[in-house]
Amino acid sequence: MAGEVCEAVNCKDEIRLSIKVKGIVQGVGFRPFVYNMAHKYELPGWVCNSSAGVEIEVEGNAHSLKGFVSEITANPPVLARIENIEVQDNLALQGYTRFEIRKSIREDGQFVPVSPDISVCEDCLKELFDPADRRYLYPFINCTNCGPRFTIIKDVPYDRDKTTMSEFTMCLPCKTEYEDPLNRRFHAQPNACPKCGPEISLFDCNGKRVDCQDIVNEAAHLILQGFIVAIKGIGGYHLACDATNTEAVARLRGRKYREDKPFALMVEGIEEIKAFCYLEKEEESLLLDPKRPIVLLKKREDSDLISEEVAPGNRYLGVMLPYSPLHYLILKEVKRPLVMTSGNISDEPIAYHDPEAILRLGRIADYFLLHNREIYQRTDDTVARIFDGAPMMIRRSRGYVPLSITLPLSGGEVLACGGQLKNTFCLTRGNQAFLSHHIGDLDNLETLRSFEEGVEDFKRLFHLRPKVTCYDLHPDYLSTRYALAQEGEKVGVQHHHAHLASCLGENGVTDRVIGVIFDGSGYGEDGHIWGGEFLAGDFGSFERMAHLEYVPMAGGEKAIKEPYRMAFAYLLESFGDDAFGVIHSLDLRWDIERLHIFKQIIERRINSPMTSSMGRLFDAVSAILGIKERINYEGQAAVELEMAASHGEEGEYPFEFLNTLPLTIRVRSVIRGIIGDLMAGTEKGIISARFHNTISTIIIEVCRWIREKTALNTVALSGGVFQNVRLLNLSVDRLKKNGFLVLTHHDVPSNDGGISMGQALVALKKLEE
Ligand SMILES: [Zn+2]
Ligand SMILES: [Zn+2]
Repeated sequence: MAGEVCEAVNCKDEIRLSIKVKGIVQGVGFRPFVYNMAHKYELPGWVCNSSAGVEIEVEGNAHSLKGFVSEITANPPVLARIENIEVQDNLALQGYTRFEIRKSIREDGQFVPVSPDISVCEDCLKELFDPADRRYLYPFINCTNCGPRFTIIKDVPYDRDKTTMSEFTMCLPCKTEYEDPLNRRFHAQPNACPKCGPEISLFDCNGKRVDCQDIVNEAAHLILQGFIVAIKGIGGYHLACDATNTEAVARLRGRKYREDKPFALMVEGIEEIKAFCYLEKEEESLLLDPKRPIVLLKKREDSDLISEEVAPGNRYLGVMLPYSPLHYLILKEVKRPLVMTSGNISDEPIAYHDPEAILRLGRIADYFLLHNREIYQRTDDTVARIFDGAPMMIRRSRGYVPLSITLPLSGGEVLACGGQLKNTFCLTRGNQAFLSHHIGDLDNLETLRSFEEGVEDFKRLFHLRPKVTCYDLHPDYLSTRYALAQEGEKVGVQHHHAHLASCLGENGVTDRVIGVIFDGSGYGEDGHIWGGEFLAGDFGSFERMAHLEYVPMAGGEKAIKEPYRMAFAYLLESFGDDAFGVIHSLDLRWDIERLHIFKQIIERRINSPMTSSMGRLFDAVSAILGIKERINYEGQAAVELEMAASHGEEGEYPFEFLNTLPLTIRVRSVIRGIIGDLMAGTEKGIISARFHNTISTIIIEVCRWIREKTALNTVALSGGVFQNVRLLNLSVDRLKKNGFLVLTHHDVPSNDGGISMGQALVALKKLEE
């Protein structure tokens, strides 16, 4: 487009250009950047924020204009993301005499993407620790290249009066920086200093202010003494304690009623992490990314620095680097890794208002390190790991939200309400998907409220009025009920079809493929609970090609929390009444009386829905091996089964196909093989490895069978079970060796956090037709 400027007119003629830039161009230093460029090329005119992005007008000779436009396109500010530039060049001169930054223009029906929250930048960090700087040790230092964004924005366009900074009036030095186009803080909306900005305060668990000279120092001291301190951050509260102090971590665990679920760590720097985790270079760059996710890293076996209580039974630790100035200040004082777990009770959303936080966290935290900058939009920390050399999202939230994801389909505005567990929602416009932050499990009023508020916030921020609402087919999901209560058209999407669509969507594939969708549970079209599914499908439709044989879940949902119920169901299928003898001889200490009750309810089909879930099969095997009979967080039995698997084992168990359509995969001989191994005294690690091998062989054989039937050669792997990297690695390798093209998740979680985007794609396809 820049080239056309020069070709359209004689290079010496003066013309006026009107330029419209769309993308993430507000709150990221774009206007000062344009201002500087205009000065560099000596072009008069103006720049301003609009509801659609940034608008620029410049006058000058075509040669300078060309340079100006190409430089804006090629070297925008670090946080900017240009999606589109529109240049109009046949305009009459206005006779501008200087270049200026004008007030924002607001147009109806337009929108501009909001930037996510970004960790404090190098320049600000230098000032933070410079005793001569006026912001020395100031916990709210920021500039146009860093700081909070999404979490403080109430409305667009992004201006200070539409953020939670509106109540702080800038002092003269701050205002001067804010108004100086050449300053790093020009129009940095959260700009502040110790004189005019937010401040921190320390309270005890009764809400009484703690008097002290140096609040950060005092908080750090309390942590070092073994206390639990709630710290108000960017997207909510963390509960912090000394990660090397087993007693403190155990106390936090006890108070949070979170027996085994791993806690995340915050560590001062890369070198400090290397003391207790292995670190590949891709992991290092992900840790250092300004988005600052929690990264899953392999624990060093030779280090006992971190308390075992942080992640019991797990070979990985979730680690992040500090991202707010306050984090840096505290870590510099404590000089050791901290547990930084989100400040919520069990599965309620993260607390984000001060009185609410003290009320809800008062029984967990001993002290509260708070501040008076309001968090408008709560966001949990993002969790990711490296797979195949690239980041793979497990929970996509702070730092990534609300960055849009480009879809291979384009259409109208759609709201997709997601599932029940790890809920996210998704809104679309054109070919852009706005996937929400992690809302959590929609099983109580608090999470439902934050879901509803989140949907309204996204509609406002992106000026969306969706006329189509998508939902999961499960009639009891709160997200489904919410969707059905909305006005306009509704589109129901089968759970595993949504998983498949989500994987296709992030990979930009619209063709029909084989979808291997393994997860815990999703409502099937036949009313049973699906979860070990082989589909052939695209956005428009799918065919169920194969699935795990159905087994009963004794007691329904209870069988998810108590994997030994699934183990018993599988043993009954595999051994009939001899199951009791097997259980007895394996010395599995399950309550025999209850097992008899389970047998009865299974036989009479009372509260025992049928499931083809792969997640439940993993649970069953975990319980049979005595690894986990009851769980206290979702997926725990399967996670610990994966962690137990030994390396280098190549054996596997036989399985059968029942020649039906869809093909039924029967694993009774797998269960019998496992029991045989156990009886022979085979190590659990070997058995776990053989089981993983078997599942990957099932994937290969079924995919080959589907390829023969359909000629499809691309395989998409989706569903929460594929967070199991052992299974994922094994399956991807072997599928590739068998000539398949393999699609996996990276930008969108493979678990239920990704299905809202899949639902939206299915709806967009439907609307297209
Ligand atoms: Zn900065
Ligand atoms: Zn100030």
